[in-house]
Amino acid sequence: MSSSTANFDKTKAFLIDTTKCTGCRGCQVACKQWNQLKAEDTKFFSGEGYQNPPLMSEYTFTRVKFKDYQKNGQNEFAFYKEMCMHCNEPACASVCPVGAFKKTAEGPVIYDAKRCIGCRFCMIACPFGVPKYEWSKAFPLVRKCTGCYSRVKEGLQPACATACPTAISYGSRAEMLKEAGKRLKNRPERYYNAIYGKDEAGGTSILYLTQQPLDELGFKPVTKRSLPSYTWQALRLVPGIFLTVGGGLSLVSWFNHRKERIKREQDQLNGAAAPENKEVDR
Ligand code: SF4
Ligand code: SF4
Ligand code: SF4
Repeated sequence: MSSSTANFDKTKAFLIDTTKCTGCRGCQVACKQWNQLKAEDTKFFSGEGYQNPPLMSEYTFTRVKFKDYQKNGQNEFAFYKEMCMHCNEPACASVCPVGAFKKTAEGPVIYDAKRCIGCRFCMIACPFGVPKYEWSKAFPLVRKCTGCYSRVKEGLQPACATACPTAISYGSRAEMLKEAGKRLKNRPERYYNAIYGKDEAGGTSILYLTQQPLDELGFKPVTKRSLPSYTWQALRLVPGIFLTVGGGLSLVSWFNHRKERIKREQDQLNGAAAPENKEVDR
């Protein structure tokens, strides 16, 4: 699913209506539980909002941003859930030299740790800054939201969507766009007139409605054109030394991964099975 003429209407998408988000962070907790992600040290104030933890990481695939703003002289809060956008034509997949990222027919963009050589091109290419590297590990991998592909392919909704009491709808991209358009038309006083994700980066599987202008909430201004055609041009501008060093490190990393995988497979053969979700769809 990589051609710009492909139709993504039937792929699954999130409609995240931030005007209905209560900031309960049920989605954040559900994601941690389903993906068996460890807790992190948290800080109350990060400088760019009041969210906790302050940034997405290899242990936090989604976080709810808390943004304060002034309305009629009053302090108000806006909340919104941040996650991988599951782009229709993902830049991460287009630059990966070994095909570790894939846009599935169902919609989620998934990652195959067995293929990854650790070059981190995906981290440079992603316009939303999503893929994270396991810097703290001896054998690091890239981590990001999987769109709960193992659930979606079985006909279930993602864990975060299931947990959300108010703000997240999940269905075909065509249905979600229709629903978003209906809300904008019926309640113009409630919404800022834009659907973030409809066209950004060529269109994504995460669609947002907001009350405030997108830049005031901290949504990144991203080109509306599909990115894969640009990404290699952009990466060519990365200094050669970086690519050379990166290439060398990648090779070392690939061999390390390979050794680790062989050990893990041997452990599994010996009956020491890995936790169920660890290898499913990250
Ligand atoms: S948001 Fe980034 S990591 Fe997610 S699919 Fe798009 S390019 Fe890939
Ligand atoms: S889709 Fe799954 S992995 Fe992604 S944020 Fe939601 S619960 Fe986490
Ligand atoms: S579960 Fe829903 S309402 Fe609660 S923080 Fe997440 S998106 Fe907002």
